[in-house]
Amino acid sequence: MVRSASAVREVPRQNEPTSGLPGLDRAFAYRGGVLTVEDVDLTAVAAAVGTPAYVYSEAALVGRYRLLADALAPLGAMVCYALKANSNQAVIATFARSGAGADVVSEGEMRRALAAGVPADRVVFAGVGKTRDELRAALAAGIMQVNVESEPELELLDAVAREMGRTAAVALRVNPDVDARTHAKISTGRKENKFGIDIALASAAAARAHALPGIAFKGFACHIGSQLTELAPFREAFARVAELVRTVRAQGIPVEHLDLGGGLGVRYGNEPLADVAGYAQAIRDTVAGLGCRLVVEPGRFLVAEAGLLLARVVYVKQGESRRFVIVDAAMNDLVRPAMYDAFHAVLPVREPPQGTTMAPVDLVGPICESSDTFARDRPMQEVSPGELVVFCTAGAYGAAMSSTYNSRPLVPEVLVRGDRFAVVRPRQAIETLLALDRLPPWHDEAQKPPGAANAARAQSS
Ligand SMILES: *Cc1c(COP(=O)(O)O)cnc(C)c1O
Repeated sequence: MVRSASAVREVPRQNEPTSGLPGLDRAFAYRGGVLTVEDVDLTAVAAAVGTPAYVYSEAALVGRYRLLADALAPLGAMVCYALKANSNQAVIATFARSGAGADVVSEGEMRRALAAGVPADRVVFAGVGKTRDELRAALAAGIMQVNVESEPELELLDAVAREMGRTAAVALRVNPDVDARTHAKISTGRKENKFGIDIALASAAAARAHALPGIAFKGFACHIGSQLTELAPFREAFARVAELVRTVRAQGIPVEHLDLGGGLGVRYGNEPLADVAGYAQAIRDTVAGLGCRLVVEPGRFLVAEAGLLLARVVYVKQGESRRFVIVDAAMNDLVRPAMYDAFHAVLPVREPPQGTTMAPVDLVGPICESSDTFARDRPMQEVSPGELVVFCTAGAYGAAMSSTYNSRPLVPEVLVRGDRFAVVRPRQAIETLLALDRLPPWHDEAQKPPGAANAARAQSS
């Protein structure tokens, strides 16, 4: 496989950690007693951009992409990065330059993908609630395919396409009714989930799509959930979709595209993992023989272990029964622990000496919600105020899910390449945040002396 000229150099051997860090790519390691990202010392990043801050490794991003793309290359599968996992344009552009397409779920994401250099004919558009405007925008941009999730959406897309004098390339997203055995909030492939068309109804929907003049029916898509750590659910879903392809072809309807979704899990702690070779094998065994153009839509797999959230300890508070480590990052910056009870390993930036004793602490942020807790009873080395710590495996669904709750500005994102780093999203200024609001005109009037507003109204009428 030819590497694009823009692919970054391999991480030099001396970068390889003596022991792997939990939930981080090998581009992250302690060197000289300090946690580094490639050849960049995290204390230098903190000094330059402050904390909290997200820090990503370009070598890790490209390495993850290559790992998957190379495993799938013999199957001819195209990798469309699901950019909801991390939609910074520098991240998208890094993948685009490596040859990736994009999987988008809103007009905003579609525009980001195009702005970051993903060719329109490598963009697929998913989502259960695409609006008329979004369907229009997708057709106007000439993207590769719309993954339609319901019959009403199919009818609307047909109407929009005909209005525009176009035909819409469509894959029908089916719900294969498979248990992904992942967290309920990120499971999408059961009948009771809102996603896709029930597989039992899919061949009728395909016939309808095939018949509609505004639609070019291309095939099927499925995505059963996120953070899958077992291969069996993938196998089961792909096998069901393969069966559907055979049924639909038997009805005389051609099926050319098969989009297998994302969902490949990563290691946050020491959970078992579905490996890439096994994933490729599952595809080979179930759908590769159908002769379809294959697409996969990984998000988390490509970015999670390539990023961390850098934070600083503000206080250490000893309660009667618990010890709280209060950091300057909060649930608005990284919501996964509050939203999904997710585990993120936490490491100090200064390497603890061998044999340091650990004691359980509660790691919390400053937000006025008890759910603003990153970890409870987590064994940790002694840390003091001012010390830097990192939340591992924060490259996926970290910055992308952040908010400004508690009027906390969005934090910066930094991309590292070798010994250089660049701020790829600056810290939002509090002024910028405040300037988003407007006061209603009647507040001005209310401040004038009584009667002034009435007088003004009388004058203007
Ligand atoms: C979220 C999503 C993905 C990516 O999921 P990951 O678990 O991050 O790989 C892919 N396809 C669709 C349709 C999605 O909604």
